[in-house]
Amino acid sequence: MFDAIVIGAGPSGSSAALALRGQGRSVAIIERSEFPRRKVCGEFMSAVNLDLLDRLGAGAAVRAKAGPEVKRVALFASGPGIDAGMPQAAGDAFGRALGRDVLDGILLDAARNAGAVVLQPWRAVEITSDGENAAVRITTKDDQTVVVAPVVIAAHGSWEQGRLPTNLPKSITPHDLFGFKAHFKGASLAQDLMPLLVFPGGYGGMVWADQDRMSLSCCVRRDLLTRLRENGAALSAGQAVHAHILASCPSVVSVIGGATLDGEWLAAGPIRPGIRPRFADDIFRVGNIAGESHPIIAEGISMALQSSWLLASELARFDRWDRAERIAAGSRYSKAWSKQFATRIRAAAVLARIAVLPHSTAVMKAFVGRFPSSLTIGARLTGKTKALPN
Ligand SMILES: Cc1cc2nc3c(=O)[nH]c(=O)nc-3n(C[C@H](O)[C@H](O)[C@H](O)COP(=O)(O)OP(=O)(O)OC[C@H]3O[C@@H](n4cnc5c(N)ncnc54)[C@H](O)[C@@H]3O)c2cc1C
Repeated sequence: MFDAIVIGAGPSGSSAALALRGQGRSVAIIERSEFPRRKVCGEFMSAVNLDLLDRLGAGAAVRAKAGPEVKRVALFASGPGIDAGMPQAAGDAFGRALGRDVLDGILLDAARNAGAVVLQPWRAVEITSDGENAAVRITTKDDQTVVVAPVVIAAHGSWEQGRLPTNLPKSITPHDLFGFKAHFKGASLAQDLMPLLVFPGGYGGMVWADQDRMSLSCCVRRDLLTRLRENGAALSAGQAVHAHILASCPSVVSVIGGATLDGEWLAAGPIRPGIRPRFADDIFRVGNIAGESHPIIAEGISMALQSSWLLASELARFDRWDRAERIAAGSRYSKAWSKQFATRIRAAAVLARIAVLPHSTAVMKAFVGRFPSSLTIGARLTGKTKALPN
């Protein structure tokens, strides 16, 4: 029996557990994978999150490991790159990237050290409720048990199938986007630069993370992926995407032409951008499962950390978490969430739609070539400097 059960130990789940432990609540956090684990993600974190990580007690550990400050954004399409300044957040900070195998471990360790009970590797498979408390059934390959709490927080992301009421139904369209990511060693990207890559049928990004690794992540349309696989039957999906990007973006060739892959290409998806209920069926949702922006704006980790903080702040208004209090907190959290994130999700959807249109590379290159400051404005509009309300 706990005050709260958190399902998933990505950035949203561990930060929710940390914030609730800060209020003295008892918390169980359930994670199905063993850590460290790599994850499809560009790994860039906007500067405004460093302050939030400080409040959660994990800022120093993240700063000690993260890659260099990202002071410039760029567009790499067909032709030479075009760059502009990254807008600075309050308190002089610039964003930095940190491998998800490291970041997620730091946050989960911090939650454990703060007193959260970590159940790992356990998978949540069922949530039932008697109106007062919820019971979450969790399993391993050869064991199962039940944890009980009045508050359940779904923080399990949006890309995996499952039988929980918070898992998304399966849907398949030719426009689905699949996520890919690889680390490279020996790349020649400028240390302070984060280019947006636009290529036929997809978009992506590159940034230096920790341990002299550069991450290259991207989203590719399902129909393009099918074509690439047909043409390069001997290649894995990741290798086919890698070859397609090199053939489409000369500026990427100059960055990774002489670099070596550090580990395998990872794939995930289809991704499920959109705005979803933040509280329904008496279950709170944070991170990707509450709402997801197209990764073109690299704001998913921000939204994961910040949504958990917003939820914990609303729950903190109540001593007891009876049904009426949960409903009141859920309603306030939903409103605060929309205010903080809805604009960037919609802006990202427009940008992503343009990026994957046929001939978009030429159009985007012409526009950004004429107005390089649009890159800075775009970074600001999509939340890079938007801190949480006090
Ligand atoms: C190509 C690409 C590039 C991206 N680049 C960036 C970037 O540069 N910057 C950025 O901020 N964002 C980026 N994102 C988005 C970012 O990765 C996500 O928004 C972020 O991971 C969401 O965090 P989360 O905690 O909600 O979910 P997740 O990180 O998905 O974590 C969910 C956790 O729940 C666990 N889980 C799932 N189901 C269960 C279950 N039933 N029981 C127990 N555990 C379970 C999983 O194992 C996982 O550890 C990118 C995404 C893509 C696809």
